[in-house]
Amino acid sequence: MPEFRQNLATKEWVIIAPERGKRPSDIKKEKDDESAEDVANQNTTECPFCPGHEDKTDTPVYVYPEKGDWQVRVVPNKYAALQPHLATTRTWVGSFLAAKGFGIAEVVIEHPDHHLSPALMKLGEVANILRAYKYRQLEIRKNEKINLITVFRNHGPRAGTSLAHPHSQIIATPIVPPHVRYPMEQAVLHYDKYGTCVHCDLITEELRQKERIIVESEKFVAFCPFAARSPFECRIYPKKHQASYMLIDDDEDIFELASMLREVLSRLYYGLNNPDYNYILRSSPIGDEDTRYLHWYMVIIPKITTPAGFEIGSGIYINTIAPEESARYLRELEIPK
Ligand SMILES: [Zn+2]
Ligand SMILES: [Zn+2]
Repeated sequence: MPEFRQNLATKEWVIIAPERGKRPSDIKKEKDDESAEDVANQNTTECPFCPGHEDKTDTPVYVYPEKGDWQVRVVPNKYAALQPHLATTRTWVGSFLAAKGFGIAEVVIEHPDHHLSPALMKLGEVANILRAYKYRQLEIRKNEKINLITVFRNHGPRAGTSLAHPHSQIIATPIVPPHVRYPMEQAVLHYDKYGTCVHCDLITEELRQKERIIVESEKFVAFCPFAARSPFECRIYPKKHQASYMLIDDDEDIFELASMLREVLSRLYYGLNNPDYNYILRSSPIGDEDTRYLHWYMVIIPKITTPAGFEIGSGIYINTIAPEESARYLRELEIPK
């Protein structure tokens, strides 16, 4: 049974989720198993997410469209590190704090085509995925034990995925960890001092300085942030203040965001030859959807470098390509339309 455990010294949480039957010695054997090629060569007859294999996943919690051939399916994650039937009760192991591994984990199967990635999808298809994110969050938030919903996409084995079929994930937890709390606290301090949303200020400053902007539309802007931790780290922000992604307008705004996301992903695809990447949709915790000091955004992190000893030791990242250079390269790239 999975379990949350808190580091007594830092108050950070980890999930201990032993896989059934796995022994420490198995780790050694697996080390070289999953090369990039293995993932790329996965065949559609084995794929649990391909059309015709719907019986290989649990009953979907969301299907779009509801009738006819599906475009997006959201299913419970069979291999979830957290389980929905557990309690959130805290337990003490001596002086150490733990909690049962309650949580909701879902897989968003983004498209019927096994070989397509969002960088190459049609606009409406990317919008379908973004709409599924919104509607699943609205549904999941009804569970009173949930406080944080994390939506993310792992693209390629270096980004942590073992399945080639285009998919992203949603993991909802009862715990809001320090990693999320700390920036929130900073945002409150900023609000108290200046009376403004720190992210709105950050967007205004990036738009004023211009050199790190990748692409801009009426309602959204994508840039490599001033203090990007790694080469080609990209962020997409709504220009209008909005704390929670759940408040995004269904039609117009989702389409405009889809267009911006596809544009950034295709610039990475053509510019860096389909790099592995993670993207994360950062949005306010449940209950903070209306705050004046939080602001949702997407961050896209190509897996170009691996954090090494100094980064892990100090938390100070060494970025070997200035974000101004990353942004200029992506902005000026000629991409097929
Ligand atoms: Zn597939
Ligand atoms: Zn704001």
